[in-house]
Amino acid sequence: MKQLYELVESARDVIAEKLVPNYRLEDVYRAIAYAFVRAALQGKSGRFELLEPLEKIIPKPLLAAVKRELFGRVHSIIKQVDYLLSEDSPVLVHGEAALERVIEEVKREVGRVDYVFVYDSMSVIEQVAVSAFLKTQDVRTLFLRTFFLNPLGLTRFMTSQLPGGERQTLRRVAQYVASNLGAQLYAKSSFIDVSVHESGLLGVDEFVKRIDISRIAAEVLKASERGVVLVLSDHGYDVVLSRRGDYLYVVHGFQEGSVDDIALLLLSRISAFMRVG
Ligand SMILES: [Zn+2]
Repeated sequence: MKQLYELVESARDVIAEKLVPNYRLEDVYRAIAYAFVRAALQGKSGRFELLEPLEKIIPKPLLAAVKRELFGRVHSIIKQVDYLLSEDSPVLVHGEAALERVIEEVKREVGRVDYVFVYDSMSVIEQVAVSAFLKTQDVRTLFLRTFFLNPLGLTRFMTSQLPGGERQTLRRVAQYVASNLGAQLYAKSSFIDVSVHESGLLGVDEFVKRIDISRIAAEVLKASERGVVLVLSDHGYDVVLSRRGDYLYVVHGFQEGSVDDIALLLLSRISAFMRVG
């Protein structure tokens, strides 16, 4: 079985080759999100009519291209994520929940970096879109074997592992990772997280409309002019089926049982590392 990072990179390559050159990056991003949500629905409820609001905001030829090129690959990614999050997975494959151990592994894989960029709530969906864009600009991205597992899907699961504990911030995580990897520069962005909180409940279609993926892609591209960049996040976000409202929404740290809703995609429990440049 292929490892998760290999599956992610193969999806990225197809997106870079077939989608980014032919469509607006915003639309490509929406189409990637669509592929993930659809693949998740397939396993859980199969109620594909819930995808209509998302389908409406994606150009038809792009939808067809995504079905043809991406569905199978995204399906494998989701299966592998489910496996990593399941209890059958060995404790230490290449996903870890202990921050210090993760940083050690990352250091072993990337060596020195110049710039550390932490995006609150960035999921593999945004990462794959940004990485595909960078590839079309001749900037190389490697997805690391190491993933950070965040069983709570919350920032504090990561920040509380820093020296100083509960009162730490994600900015401090950026600084901590930077100092461990010898990077002079670091930054943190809350832009995606703000969108999850402000628009997530309105529906996954509203959420993807809000995400300015070109801005993120441009930010990372600019950072890569200054050297090797490490892009990471504390957690991604979950896509949840609201039973009462009959629609799909986005949230992070979703816990089943508190409400009647069903988690389709638990991307807030896992985050990937990208080495750019
Ligand atoms: Zn948040």
